[in-house]
Amino acid sequence: MARVLFTPVFQSVKNMSADSTIAPMLINGEWLSTHAGFPVVNPANGEQLALVSDGTADEALSAVDAAHAAFASWSVTTCHHRSAILYRAWELMLARKAELADLMTREQGKPLRAATNEVQYAADFLLWFAEEAKRMYGESIPSARGDQRFIVHHHPVGVVAAITPWNYPVSMITRKVAPALAAGCTVVLKPAEATPLCAVEVFRILEEAGVPAGVINLVTTASPAPVGKVFCEDERIKKLTFTGSTPVGRKLSAEAAPSLKRVSMELGGHAPFIVYPDADPVHAAKGAALVKFLNTGQACICPNRIFVHRNIATEFVETLASRVSKMKAGDGRGEGIAIGPLVNEAALHKVDKQVADARDKGAEIVCGGQPLTDGNLAQGHFYAPTVLTGVREDMLIYREETFGPVAPVVVFDDEDDVIAMANDTHYGLAAYVYTNNLSTAMRAFEQLRFGIIGINDINPTSASAPFGGMNHSGLGREGAREGLLEYLETKLGGFSI
Ligand code: NAD
Repeated sequence: MARVLFTPVFQSVKNMSADSTIAPMLINGEWLSTHAGFPVVNPANGEQLALVSDGTADEALSAVDAAHAAFASWSVTTCHHRSAILYRAWELMLARKAELADLMTREQGKPLRAATNEVQYAADFLLWFAEEAKRMYGESIPSARGDQRFIVHHHPVGVVAAITPWNYPVSMITRKVAPALAAGCTVVLKPAEATPLCAVEVFRILEEAGVPAGVINLVTTASPAPVGKVFCEDERIKKLTFTGSTPVGRKLSAEAAPSLKRVSMELGGHAPFIVYPDADPVHAAKGAALVKFLNTGQACICPNRIFVHRNIATEFVETLASRVSKMKAGDGRGEGIAIGPLVNEAALHKVDKQVADARDKGAEIVCGGQPLTDGNLAQGHFYAPTVLTGVREDMLIYREETFGPVAPVVVFDDEDDVIAMANDTHYGLAAYVYTNNLSTAMRAFEQLRFGIIGINDINPTSASAPFGGMNHSGLGREGAREGLLEYLETKLGGFSI
């Protein structure tokens, strides 16, 4: 029989409540709840799913104390030991895929199939870093001096503080925690206030897999700033890893700067999607429909400007609009649902404002273009999947990350100009190119200033491939070999013999 998530767990610890109805935090190996909790709601219908512990700077400090104390013993375990624990966590996560996906759909809103895919993606990081843990190879470097030897070793950086977003509430955690644990680091993590229940379940899995007390600590809160301040300022934390918006990432980087801790930032995006005149417009439009409306447009790698060559624009837009207008919106647990709710009212307003601004400045709404409020949809934050044409540089949507189900199409004439148009953004996360010309593809790959480029490929992501952006999209890479190096110090030994 399926396990029911969020059954009450025990509490203990001073200053904490015995109220087993409040979802707990994990600090120093103890699951504990605060006296009052904050509500977590299903964005599809407003239903309250649970009350969750509302941690403060005090709990953040206790978590750092625990992670700091646990570092001494965890950092000297063998990488084979840490690998075995991550491998066990991978098995447990796959065994709970269906329950975790169902929880994610209720808490975050993405359709069940997409949630199931996300749990698989999240588990992939556990497996990948279980394997990479055993490959923290050092180096021997020849010296110019006959009496000297150089060796290079890698050591865990220390206590890691992680802050994660709501849009991928399971995989954004494993993408950070798995490499940190593989490297021998201990962790304090604060999940987004909209999706703490998924975080609780991931931590239960890690604990059950054998991660010792104090090595992973979870602080949930409705007020992120005081917890974030502790994470940024505490000198015992040696690395801050953040995924979220560019403004918050910039603020946290500044707060962390005085303590000179290492920082990784996975921030916002404004992906261009270029369709060259030699591309198949139908194939490209199908790709655009899939990647633009991924997670209802709430993904950092979603296209935000779709550049289509004039020669094929009509066929491209017709195909795109025909697919988009058939996308069914609703509660992600329903049959055939492709479009879930936006995360909250503010997100709905932001999308609507960008569409209204584009329309007022001359864009044409080919389909969609308004919030959805019929029947049960009125209970959630739904926006009609939308295609806009005639989008221009002076429109908000051309510059601002949308984070919603709107596909803005820009027609271009000159192949030489389109790369400059695509690069005309502060962001630099993902970009997409459709062409059947090898030289065009290679030129675009080389000239686009983005960290991830899909060439005729709308899914250029994997646990084994480096994920991350340039410019205002962030610093550092997650996944792949690089993802482990982010949690390691390089130590050089020079030996005179
Ligand atoms: P957000 O920046 O509002 O929140 C992200 C996290 O930061 C949450 O946990 C939030 O509680 C926390 N936070 C907010 N203010 C804080 C403060 N003052 N101090 C400490 N923590 C604080 O972003 P979001 O709305 O949750 O996520 C959407 C954004 O994340 C988008 O911009 C998206 O592009 C980006 N994102 C990037 C990637 C990537 O890998 N580059 C992946 C997913 C999402």
